[in-house]
Amino acid sequence: MAVRVVFVGGLGRSGTTLLERLLGEVPGVVPLGEVVHLWERGVNAHEPCGCGEPFTACPFWRRVGIRAFGGWSPGLADRVLTLRRRVDRTRHIPALAARRCRVGLSGYTRAYSRVYEAASQIAACPVVVDSSKHASLAFCLSTSPVVDLSVVHVVRDPRAVAHSWRRRVSRPENGAHMTRWRPWRTTLHWVVQNLAFELLARRGATVIRVRYEDLLADPHTVLSTLLARLGLAGGGGALTFLRPGLAELSVAHTCAGNPMRFTAGPLALSRDDSWREHLSFWHRWLVTALTWPLMLQYGYGVRDRQAPEATSSSPWLTAGVATAQECR
Ligand SMILES: [Zn+2]
Repeated sequence: MAVRVVFVGGLGRSGTTLLERLLGEVPGVVPLGEVVHLWERGVNAHEPCGCGEPFTACPFWRRVGIRAFGGWSPGLADRVLTLRRRVDRTRHIPALAARRCRVGLSGYTRAYSRVYEAASQIAACPVVVDSSKHASLAFCLSTSPVVDLSVVHVVRDPRAVAHSWRRRVSRPENGAHMTRWRPWRTTLHWVVQNLAFELLARRGATVIRVRYEDLLADPHTVLSTLLARLGLAGGGGALTFLRPGLAELSVAHTCAGNPMRFTAGPLALSRDDSWREHLSFWHRWLVTALTWPLMLQYGYGVRDRQAPEATSSSPWLTAGVATAQECR
């Protein structure tokens, strides 16, 4: 029986970690963090789990590793990383979309499905959340016959995303700074990643779009609608961790991701609109000029100097039902 996976996708700094943390509080759902980085940052570099323990010392991940592979090892991680370089790249998306399989794809997705299956069993949760974000991994996973994949595609105003990628942010894991991009580079990635998720939906996968701005404007409504669209039992009744303006977060065993993954306790749910003050006119113009067709499609006004309104029509997009197809 296929393991149920909710894959949170979109360009980084769009609210993917926040959405994963919120989904992870729903009964029956276990958040795993960015599994794409488990192999290098967790297994090889021993970076901390969301619980604060080094990855290989975390009781949850140790049990997952034993159940999935008989234990974690650098050799295992290196094999998966070799396969990743071969199949999981943005430039391979056209071939994946055309169902032209690459050598190593089934072995690569099998490594992930073993992690998902083991985590689901250890946590006693039927649904796992992977916030790996990258569209290329979502395409890879969509080919697996043992992964029941639903993608939540998170989008955010590209001007806000461009501003966020310019910021200097430290990684609590090792004190190094998170990667910074110039606005033109963020814009390029924003367009490519969002178009890739649109393509994945057109290829028949279940892709549900969530706007960061809508999520923070009305978390209860957006999450209860999302749970219903995902077919997760409980609906709005599963959201008792939400209070006005706050979410009560518990410790989560997330293997990698944004520093927010270490947050436990009350988390203020407020929208970060600091780009309106700090992003220069030139950078706003550049980002808007390069993204305006998609901005309009997603409901962002190109001349809007005010916070965008929650879309009056449904912010959700569901395109088809996943057709798991193993490439042979
Ligand atoms: Zn842990």
